Amino acid sequence: MHTIGFNKPYLTGKEVHYMYDAVFHRHISGNGKYTKLCHQFFQEKYHFNKVLLTSSCTDALEMSALLINIQPGDEVIMPSYTFVSTANAFILRGANIKFIDSYPHHPNMNPDLIEECITSKTKAIVVMHYAGAANDMKKILSIANKYNLYVIEDAAQCINSFYIDEKNQKIPLGSIGDLSAFSFHETKNIISGEGGMLVVNNKELEKRAEIIWEKGTNRSAFFRGEVDKYGWVDIGSSFLPSDIIAAFLYAQLEELEHIQQKRLWIWNTYYKLLKPLADQGLFELPYIPEYATNNAHMFYLVCRSLDERTKLIQHLKNKGIQAVFHYLSLHSSPYYKDKHDGRMLPNADKFADCLVRLPFYYDLSQSDLEYICEEVKNFFSNI
Ligand SMILES: *Cc1c(COP(=O)(O)O)cnc(C)c1O
Repeated sequence: MHTIGFNKPYLTGKEVHYMYDAVFHRHISGNGKYTKLCHQFFQEKYHFNKVLLTSSCTDALEMSALLINIQPGDEVIMPSYTFVSTANAFILRGANIKFIDSYPHHPNMNPDLIEECITSKTKAIVVMHYAGAANDMKKILSIANKYNLYVIEDAAQCINSFYIDEKNQKIPLGSIGDLSAFSFHETKNIISGEGGMLVVNNKELEKRAEIIWEKGTNRSAFFRGEVDKYGWVDIGSSFLPSDIIAAFLYAQLEELEHIQQKRLWIWNTYYKLLKPLADQGLFELPYIPEYATNNAHMFYLVCRSLDERTKLIQHLKNKGIQAVFHYLSLHSSPYYKDKHDGRMLPNADKFADCLVRLPFYYDLSQSDLEYICEEVKNFFSNI
């Protein structure tokens, strides 16, 4: 039987070569040659103000919570339909979370629901751009400015994706919030196994970001010759990855355009093949808002019911195809349901029940895609 897994990490071929080089360069801890090359790549390509590689996006989110000084009892606003790390980072500092519902037809948080959840304790809005499709940043920034809140982007899925402003300018996701967190986990477009990055756009947070990154010491400033000794100056942790990981990542970054081109082809092929079924009302296809771009992070369908989705996943499994559901709404999770304020978040629950992700990775071929779409079609013609 033709078997197609959900994900298969793509290798450019240079990863191991650069990892060897990092090892024989004899700087295998963090912030070495390849870390600096990665930092430079992001600063040049996307004009990010300051970037720091981290061991994961989760780490970058935890750094964000430290950097904006979240204290017990502070409130943070974020979507319910997101990954646990978005919330955990702030929970670890004692925050309470106000979860916001999704749009009816897009998993992103609906910004029109934010304002009613703001109190005197609110400190920040965390935006997660689902599948790399920008949220409405104009609305979100205007709310944040009105109430003087930090904006943090969980940009885990957002590499090479953009927000399009009123002047039709493409602004890189991750460059808009005070802080942003990216992931290079092996399920993302650009990978290093585990890995992530903090982007510090707010210049007031720049210096302290580096200190928190380096265990609460001013070690980075010392190595640049800015201070004559280094010591413990703040709280912090060990957030930086080994240069061996950065070497892997650098090999991927060199091929970014090429990887993105192939992924976009896969996405467009899925869309074309499945459009006739969506037009019959059997499911919804992903849509890209007019202020967003598509970075081909994932391809998903939204089924009409949980039951239909369960059966579709089972049908595809029987045909050797691994399709998977995604987030369970965080406001109704076992950990948070008793802490949630009781607001109904029906759209987040709908995406939790009905969204299914199809296999998505660089190596998928035209015939793989045709096979998958044919089986989706077979499923719907028998219900
Ligand atoms: C993947 C992902 C994360 C976690 O990334 P790690 O690098 O595995 O910590 C966080 N948030 C979102 C939205 C993600 O998709």
